Amino acid sequence: MASKRIAQLDVLSSATALSTRAKILLSPCLSHSTPHSRTFHVFREVAPLRKHRRELLLKGETVGLVPTMGALHAGHLSLARQAAAENSRVFVSIYVNPTQFGVNEDLDSYPKTWDADTHMLGDLDKELAMDGKGRIEAVFAPTSKVMYPTLPPDSTLPGKGSFVTITPLGDVLEGRTRPVFMRGVATVCTKLFNIVEAEQVYFGQKDVQQTVVIKRMVQDFHINTKVRIVPTEREPDGLAMSSRNGYLGERRRKIGVVLSQALRAAEAAYRMGKRGRDDILALAWHVTNRMGMEQDALSETERARFEVDYISLADPETLDELEEVDASKGAILSGAIKMLPLEATRDGEKLGRGNDEVPVRLIDNIILGPQK
Ligand code: AMP
Repeated sequence: MASKRIAQLDVLSSATALSTRAKILLSPCLSHSTPHSRTFHVFREVAPLRKHRRELLLKGETVGLVPTMGALHAGHLSLARQAAAENSRVFVSIYVNPTQFGVNEDLDSYPKTWDADTHMLGDLDKELAMDGKGRIEAVFAPTSKVMYPTLPPDSTLPGKGSFVTITPLGDVLEGRTRPVFMRGVATVCTKLFNIVEAEQVYFGQKDVQQTVVIKRMVQDFHINTKVRIVPTEREPDGLAMSSRNGYLGERRRKIGVVLSQALRAAEAAYRMGKRGRDDILALAWHVTNRMGMEQDALSETERARFEVDYISLADPETLDELEEVDASKGAILSGAIKMLPLEATRDGEKLGRGNDEVPVRLIDNIILGPQK
């Protein structure tokens, strides 16, 4: 039933089809569901979702919202799992939000994997059925016309439209190279929070600045929800999982781990009692510089080059850069690198999506917890 419903959705693409789609989605997924065969609703419009949400509220169900841009992986699933452990119903939104991509960023090439995403959520829901806790209730997959009902999404600065700006938190770190990014994130999350009215919203530690901005936004705007942060899911070698990792072929993938290695080296310094910025960050820079030099020494068909955008040691609440860590508060150690396109490829080499011709920005962080 679930796959048929979703297959029907995929073939519908015209404007007329959208209203048909809405009708399909409006109908309850399974009126005679059993705990093991139940599937989730797919909403593309706000009104039917709100109606459904109200029914859940009246039944005393609690809702956890997991905002995503799709191309789901184990990191997203861990958010949904935690949401299911803490709420009776989970809503997952899948929407690639244009206003958080700058004009020169990878909006057009951002991966869209609807079929795989819905299958993953269906499988997760089966797994959740065994636990007897919360279940995947709905996917909200709006169009941009739904999310931006008046003016079209504008990702220029200053940009026309209704925006939520959280300063100065949104201007530092990612905001330095991506000036519209945090404005876009805060804006789309405000919309999602208003639409779903979830008791709790789930964000990954992996995007640490986003977690700080969203918490501040919820506090400052008195948004009636609780922000829950879920630890970063990593590949076995330490690379943080990301929807963008698929763009890394074998060669760039191997080198991409340098960021997490650098952060781990700096973390070790903190754990050994170092508190000064230079003492902590020098170890991270040592790792990136050494890897950079090793790559430079190789030929074009063998190397994968990268640029470090930043390595930061910041206050956990204000995101201000720190000269000295106050061990009673701890700090956020974070970084971003850009994996550059391969300069030359070898015959038979395992390439990533986009043939390793697109630069890929990787971010990662480690929380340096308070210490005695
Ligand atoms: P995205 O689809 O990349 O916008 O991510 C949606 C949510 O999943 C955000 O809250 C991310 O922080 C979170 N997320 C992405 N990657 C990971 C990961 N490796 N581990 C945990 N959460 C993640």
